[in-house]
Amino acid sequence: MQVLVIGAGVVGLAVARTAALRGHDVIVAEATAGVGNGISSRNSEVIHGGIYYPTGSLRARHSTRGRRLLYEFCASHGVAHNKCGKFIVATDAAELAKVETLLAQGHKNGVEGLEPIGGNAARALEPELSCIGALVSPESGVIDSHGYMLALWGELEDRGGGIAFETPVERMSFAEARWQVRFGGRDAGIAAFDAVVNSAGLGAQALARRIEGYPADKVPPLILAKGNYFAFAGRPVFSRLIYPTPVDGGLGVHVTLDLAGRMRFGPDVEWIDRESYTVDPRRADAFYDRIRSYWPGLPAGSLVPDYCGIRPKLSGRGQPAADFMIAGEAAHGLPRLVNLFGIESPGLTASLSLAEEVADSLAA
Ligand SMILES: Cc1cc2nc3c(=O)[nH]c(=O)nc-3n(C[C@H](O)[C@H](O)[C@H](O)COP(=O)(O)OP(=O)(O)OC[C@H]3O[C@@H](n4cnc5c(N)ncnc54)[C@H](O)[C@@H]3O)c2cc1C
Repeated sequence: MQVLVIGAGVVGLAVARTAALRGHDVIVAEATAGVGNGISSRNSEVIHGGIYYPTGSLRARHSTRGRRLLYEFCASHGVAHNKCGKFIVATDAAELAKVETLLAQGHKNGVEGLEPIGGNAARALEPELSCIGALVSPESGVIDSHGYMLALWGELEDRGGGIAFETPVERMSFAEARWQVRFGGRDAGIAAFDAVVNSAGLGAQALARRIEGYPADKVPPLILAKGNYFAFAGRPVFSRLIYPTPVDGGLGVHVTLDLAGRMRFGPDVEWIDRESYTVDPRRADAFYDRIRSYWPGLPAGSLVPDYCGIRPKLSGRGQPAADFMIAGEAAHGLPRLVNLFGIESPGLTASLSLAEEVADSLAA
C-alpha cells in the first residue's frame, strides 16, 4: 500500500518506519521544517516502566511492551540511553499508601524488578533524598529522543520512504477507493494514498475535522495541559530519576536527568486554553515547595526557567485520566484511516509498540 503518515513526531516516525519495514511505500507529511518539532522535543525523555496506568489500557500495554522494544532498538541502532532506574518516593504516610498502590499496579502491569525500600535504604543510595520509603523501578531510564527520531527516519529512508517537510495536510476525502489528500506549503497539491495515519499530535483533532465524512461526534475534545520545566543551576545530586507520587494531570514535579547527568525539574501541570510556550518564572515558587518535600537541600535561587511541553489530553482537570485513542475504521466507518488522539505520556516510551498496533490495523 501507499501509506501517508501525517506528523514527523516520535509516534508518526515509529509508525512510518514500521509500515516501511512491512513493505509499504511510506511518505510522512510534516508541517514544520524538521522532525520532532512538536510534543516530541518538549518532554522528560524518560523511558517509563509502565507502572501507573490501569491494567489492560492502551497506555499500560504499550508502555511496558514499548519500553522493552525501545531498549532493544537503542541497543541495535546505537541510540544513546541510560537505564538509570527511578525512585517513586513517599514523604508521609498518605504517600506511602500511594506508593504501595503503585507497586501493586506495576506488578499487575507486568513491570519487571519493582521493589519497595525503606527511607534509610533509599538514602544509602541517594544521600540527599528525604523520604520514609520508596518504590524502586530499575527498568526506567532516559533516552536521547532526538537521536531516536533520527534513527527511525534513517530506517524509513533505507526502506525507500521519506519525509516531506513544510508540507501541512489541509484536507482529505475518500474517493475512488483511495484517500485524496490536499497538501499546502512547499509541496502543495493533491495526491492519492491507500491508507492514512493521522499522527499530528496537538493538531490531530483539527485535522480530523477536515476529513470529509468524518463523524464530528467521533472527534474527541482536545484539552491542553502545559508542563513547565526548571533547570537546576548547580552540580547534580541524584544519579537516578526521583519522582514524587502522581498528582491530578501529571506524574508530579520530578527530577529528570539528561544523558550528561544534568538535573532538571518538572513538568508541573498548567491547564491552558491555547498553545503557548513561555515558562512563567513565578511558577518557581511552587517548584521549590514541592521539590523540598523530598530534597530539603535544594538551594534558594538555583532554579532557572527552562522549557515547556503541552500534553494533548482527552480529559480535563479533576477527571479520571483518559487512555490513548487509536481510532480506526471500527470507530469512524472510513476505510484504512487511523487517527491517533491523546498521545500524551508515555507516548515516547510506547511509540514502537503503538506503531505495531497501527500498522496491524491498516493491514486488517
Ligand atoms: C511535558 C511532557 C512530558 C512528557 N514526558 C514524557 C516522558 O518522559 N516519557 C514518555 O514516554 N513520554 C513523555 N511525554 C509524551 C510524549 O512526548 C508524546 O507522547 C510524544 O512526543 C507524542 O508524539 P507525536 O508524534 O504523537 O506528536 P508530536 O511530536 O507533536 O508530532 C506531531 C507532528 O505533527 C505535525 N503536524 C500537526 N498538524 C499537521 C498537519 N496538518 N500536517 C502535517 N503535519 C502536522 C506537527 O508539526 C508535529 O511535528 C511527555 C509529554 C509532555 C507534553
